Amino acid sequence: MIILVVNTGSSSLKYQLINMDDNSVLAKGLCERIGEDGHMNYKTDAGTVFDHDVPLPDHGVAMQLVINALTDPEHGVIADMNEIGAVGHRIVQGGYLFDKSEIITDEVEAGIEELCTIGPLHNPPALVGIRACKKVLPDTPGVVVFDTTFHRTMPDECKYYAIPWEYAEKYHVQRYGAHGTSHRYVSERCAELMGKDPKDLNIITCHLGNGSSITAVKGGKCYDTSMGLTPLEGLVMGTRCGSIDPTVVSFIYEQTGMPVKEITDMMTKKSGLLAVSEISGDVRDVCIAEAKGNHKAHVAREMLLRSVKRFIGAYIAELGQVDAIVFTAGIGENDAELREKVMDNFGFMGITIDKKKNDCRGKEVEITGKDSKVRVFIIPTNEELMIAKDTQALVEAM
Ligand code: ADP
Repeated sequence: MIILVVNTGSSSLKYQLINMDDNSVLAKGLCERIGEDGHMNYKTDAGTVFDHDVPLPDHGVAMQLVINALTDPEHGVIADMNEIGAVGHRIVQGGYLFDKSEIITDEVEAGIEELCTIGPLHNPPALVGIRACKKVLPDTPGVVVFDTTFHRTMPDECKYYAIPWEYAEKYHVQRYGAHGTSHRYVSERCAELMGKDPKDLNIITCHLGNGSSITAVKGGKCYDTSMGLTPLEGLVMGTRCGSIDPTVVSFIYEQTGMPVKEITDMMTKKSGLLAVSEISGDVRDVCIAEAKGNHKAHVAREMLLRSVKRFIGAYIAELGQVDAIVFTAGIGENDAELREKVMDNFGFMGITIDKKKNDCRGKEVEITGKDSKVRVFIIPTNEELMIAKDTQALVEAM
């Protein structure tokens, strides 16, 4: 089966066409600046590349241009759009309604719409993407895969905040987590690499990118994760502050009169590494500045290291026993120095890495040190493949 995986943002549409016979990516790309001036990028396995400005007034036009490119007589990878067996959509917030991936029905769409209150930035564009796909591929089944469903297995002590129950009961204030598809993929892949059943393993997965989260995976299921009601909780990130004393919000409000929405915006888009370094939210730029002796860049870097160490340490304590630690995403896969500095702190517990093996970027590799009590891996994440696998399984069972 050939599956189109779609990830829609407010002004973007990322896509991958995957052949499930061998998991190969036939084509992939990105439509950007939808509703503005429009730009489309398309790449095939054979090396064809389109990268040009093109009018993209809405997501429907973008979707049609993707189908046109995929079926183009010269540069296409399929003869006809009917070769696409199903479309898999990435949905960020499945909230309290979805515990697994679902075939798209009117009821499922209504559920995603209801969840716009807790996923205001991501669910509305995802719905636009679903509707654009339906228009262009009316006879092709669609599946939604949620970033949050992997975390639905958290026990209540991890799922809820220690505030009065009425906020959870009436307003669904609870911890939903994020990056679940990535944590699921790398934890399952880690078990595969170890030749073990995920049920028999406890794994800590570190998804460290622009947005970062760490998950404690117990017996193949999420036990705890660092993100909460929104992806603002947890680690220090590129532009997000991560966990802070919540009264910082009311204090800033009282001192400055800044509206709460603006404070949230400041903590989401203008904080983290960007705010502390006053240089950039990108780790690479922070490291360059740190190497030149910039103190604020050094503090930003140390804050990132501190938060990764704290969550790994916390999850070792919560799980009681750990078999593997996995690093993934932009920072996790590429930042050898971060992996080394973080893991050095666990040496006293008998957890070590092989510094030579660790000296690599973006490769699937085990970096466990000699006699280490816990195995350590770098596993490039593949959320699209996970979405395609769920999509295939649900469509075949229809
Ligand atoms: P997103 O959360 O947007 O998917 P990614 O997982 O692609 O982000 O991660 C992007 C981040 O990865 C960049 O902002 C950068 O900080 C970091 N990164 C990428 N390459 C390197 C590298 N070689 N060394 C350190 N950090 C890197």
